[in-house]
Amino acid sequence: MTSYSYETHEYDVVVVGAGGAGLRATLGMAEQGLRTACITKVFPTRSHTVAAQGGIAASLSNMGPDNWQWHMYDTVKGSDWLGDTDAMEYLAREAPKAVYELEHYGVPFSRTEEGKIYQRPFGGHTTDFGEGPAVQRTCAAADRTGHAILHTLYGQSLKNNAEFYIEYFAIDLIMTDDGVCQGVVCWKLDDGTMHVFNAKMVVLATGGYGRAYFSATSAHTCTGDGGGMVARAGLPLQDMEFVQFHPTGIYGSGCLITEGARGEGGYLTNSEGQRFMERYAPNYKDLAPRDYVSRCMTMEIRDGRGVGAEADHIHLNLSHLPPEALAERLPGISESAKIFAGVDVTKEPIPVLPTVHYNMGGIPTNYWGEVLNPTPMDQNKVVPGLMAVGEAGCASVHGANRLGSNSLIDLVVFGRASAIRAGSVVDREVPSMNLDTKQIDKAFGRFDGFRHSKGHTPTAELRLEMQKTMQSDAAVFRATDTLAHGFDKMKSIAQKENDLKVTDKSLVWNSDLMETLELTNLLPNALSTIAAAEARKESRGAHAHEDFSERDDENWRKHSLASVMGHNINLSYRSVIVDRLTDESQGGIPLERIAPKVRTF
Ligand SMILES: Cc1cc2nc3c(=O)[nH]c(=O)nc-3n(C[C@H](O)[C@H](O)[C@H](O)COP(=O)(O)OP(=O)(O)OC[C@H]3O[C@@H](n4cnc5c(N)ncnc54)[C@H](O)[C@@H]3O)c2cc1C
Repeated sequence: MTSYSYETHEYDVVVVGAGGAGLRATLGMAEQGLRTACITKVFPTRSHTVAAQGGIAASLSNMGPDNWQWHMYDTVKGSDWLGDTDAMEYLAREAPKAVYELEHYGVPFSRTEEGKIYQRPFGGHTTDFGEGPAVQRTCAAADRTGHAILHTLYGQSLKNNAEFYIEYFAIDLIMTDDGVCQGVVCWKLDDGTMHVFNAKMVVLATGGYGRAYFSATSAHTCTGDGGGMVARAGLPLQDMEFVQFHPTGIYGSGCLITEGARGEGGYLTNSEGQRFMERYAPNYKDLAPRDYVSRCMTMEIRDGRGVGAEADHIHLNLSHLPPEALAERLPGISESAKIFAGVDVTKEPIPVLPTVHYNMGGIPTNYWGEVLNPTPMDQNKVVPGLMAVGEAGCASVHGANRLGSNSLIDLVVFGRASAIRAGSVVDREVPSMNLDTKQIDKAFGRFDGFRHSKGHTPTAELRLEMQKTMQSDAAVFRATDTLAHGFDKMKSIAQKENDLKVTDKSLVWNSDLMETLELTNLLPNALSTIAAAEARKESRGAHAHEDFSERDDENWRKHSLASVMGHNINLSYRSVIVDRLTDESQGGIPLERIAPKVRTF
């Protein structure tokens, strides 16, 4: 093995990832005077959060009555009763505070006539505990909300002296034998040097793993690197079977058309020109939650009512909306429709199809962002020195299905929470720990193994095989035979990791090697997803099982935990947290309000 020399950096906190979650955590840490580094493989404002269009949910009541209890209820119902109640309460209660903070940091929100933050309707967000009409809860900066948030948080982090390590690729965590995280090993992409970060707290904010699938709305950089690092450290991943398909990816490219388009009055039609959502969801119609709308679209297509030459997609109509409204509220998607579908939204419908959009599962955490390593004795055991926030984490507020605009709020609420927690658990005065060099050597050994691999399978070929398998066997609808077939196939694909062929051996801007490392992170994520899906014999949220079409709370209201063992998966389960943070006497939501019931719309 080649030995690598490296530079060591010491910090109180190292955040891996500069999307919305990573930047909000970085800013919160730096504001408290913690010595904070933020490491990112892409320039911060190129993180996938920049693409978030529709908005960020918080019960500000700027457009009509609303409160956090209604937001919490919708989130509980949206999660199909798989979310952790304490975390969902924390999210809904802290959301307005987190949004006003963003406003004060400088996010240029769209405004109402009176100058308040503008809010639009989004799927699954309702009034009066699901009994009233849809609510306008989603705060927006036109259809470029993520862009506005990311630029603002990056500027504020710099102002507070956070240090950025840009185009550094985190390879692996440094974990001691007794399970304490001490830091992270990185490769600097532009000059090939190696770096070891010694930190009292590591925060993983590496985003989702949408690229495990063939058609996804997420950026090519969404490769689940945090999940890969955690799996290699012998820690479990939670609820990986729950993968959200967004109803409106542009047919062909997968590029997203925000749910805000339906929020502003857009609707879906089939080949008969029929607004079919009225049949499936009489109350909320096109604004029913995403998992439900995606399934209805798939059923219309299966029943022969798809549009286009192959009757294999659906139309999204916006042309009845006033052109001024489209230009003011949805300028970005009007442009995307033109570029990616050749459609003028003021005249023609957009061809759309359900597309992989969000990973509800991820690294299990409590609502402070602390990573959990559940044991039979202690289901909520914390891993010292390690946190995870944003799409990489699973707090779990989205349970089996995430509501639109609840991710951006998750990023800032839990990014902020992790900083609040670190403020009390990280001791600035104590010197940094001595690093376990055996672990550093192990990370470099693995890196070097791939760099000098002499196999026969090109990375792009194996990646495509994985993506196609996931797309066909772990899709909107799943069945016993396709899941079993897909799991077997994924196990053999994962084994081919040992046969990868990397042609470029250099260390400077070696995209071949970087994509290989990313693939080795996608693989444990994909394998956990299909293994947990195969095991779950019920339908819940995004997991729609054709052979078990009902939700089964008695046997399956539990989180799945997938531990990667070589190229196989060991599954165990953890109870859903049903306790609230506050009871009725403190303004908390009455328990009977959030008791499980059938999800109808
Ligand atoms: C097209 C699109 C539109 C969306 N619209 C909305 C919306 O309107 N409202 C909403 O609530 N949600 C929306 N979502 C979901 C939401 O935007 C994402 O879930 C969220 O932005 C994820 O943020 P994050 O901070 O967790 O990760 P990301 O923004 O994906 O950032 C990940 C960061 O980790 C870094 N990183 C990853 N791996 C490594 C590594 N190995 N080494 C170093 N750095 C690494 C990357 O450089 C990057 O900085 C949308 C998603 C998509 C794809």
